[in-house]
Amino acid sequence: MYHRFMRLATFELDQQRLVGAIDGDQMVDFSGSGLPNEMIELIRTWDQDRARSAYATSPRIPLSRVRLLAPLAPRKNIIAVGRNYHDHAEEFSASGFDAAEKQMIPDHPVFFTKAPTSVIGPEQAIVLDNDPTGTTDYEGEMAVVIGRTARNVTLGTALDHVFGWTIVNDVTARDLQRRHVQWFLGKSPDTFCPMGPAISTIDELPDIESSWLRTTVNNELRQETQIKELVFDVPTLLTTLSQVMTLEPGDVIATGTGKGVGIGFDPPVYLVPGDVVEVSIDGIGTLRNPVV
Ligand code: MG
Repeated sequence: MYHRFMRLATFELDQQRLVGAIDGDQMVDFSGSGLPNEMIELIRTWDQDRARSAYATSPRIPLSRVRLLAPLAPRKNIIAVGRNYHDHAEEFSASGFDAAEKQMIPDHPVFFTKAPTSVIGPEQAIVLDNDPTGTTDYEGEMAVVIGRTARNVTLGTALDHVFGWTIVNDVTARDLQRRHVQWFLGKSPDTFCPMGPAISTIDELPDIESSWLRTTVNNELRQETQIKELVFDVPTLLTTLSQVMTLEPGDVIATGTGKGVGIGFDPPVYLVPGDVVEVSIDGIGTLRNPVV
């Protein structure tokens, strides 16, 4: 059987951390295939033919028997983009939560980062105690995973450096974000970067812009936007970043959130213990996290 497409995942089985690919309700376990048993190494040394062969011949385990982890453990901060959908930029501006805002829609992408220690996987809990201000909010986002080192890429070649796409919930401590002017602290509490459930390769999803991004809280639809509504699209983001810095395999860039975050409500609606947040993107899956 010919498999062109991959939804790659990192998972735990019998206390071992392994990589593989999701195939319906089964996990294809690459651990006996000779491929690297760590996602960033797998990406860095990606060989389409070997991956296809591993996908076709590796053992399959029921998904119910494994625990999905974040698809990769970032070696650096997650790069993120603020105010990158028009409708969210409007609600964010109206909320007054950006202490440094100069204009609603920026002329250039607004970049910030999240600490790698904030990353958790699907079904892991977002821990509200890590936000001393009690103003924890969700932000469902599509995230780019870099596949090939990128420096000075052009708009026309930027996507050649993309390995695939995943989902990030850019969980934010709003009062920390406001108080400290720089967003780093408010974006980086432990557990505030749920990621997963899989990385869909760019072959699987060549037209990510046509996918819809949806966030629900306790099954109530809060955010719904098509990714083509991005203010700065993926080639623009990669061109801007790589003009000054080297992007490396396994780097993650969360591209921004749409309208419907908790601070968009009046009064704001923050996460509370017992909530369940689900972020879905067509072609990638659903990232579900309980809140405690
Ligand atoms: Mg965000």
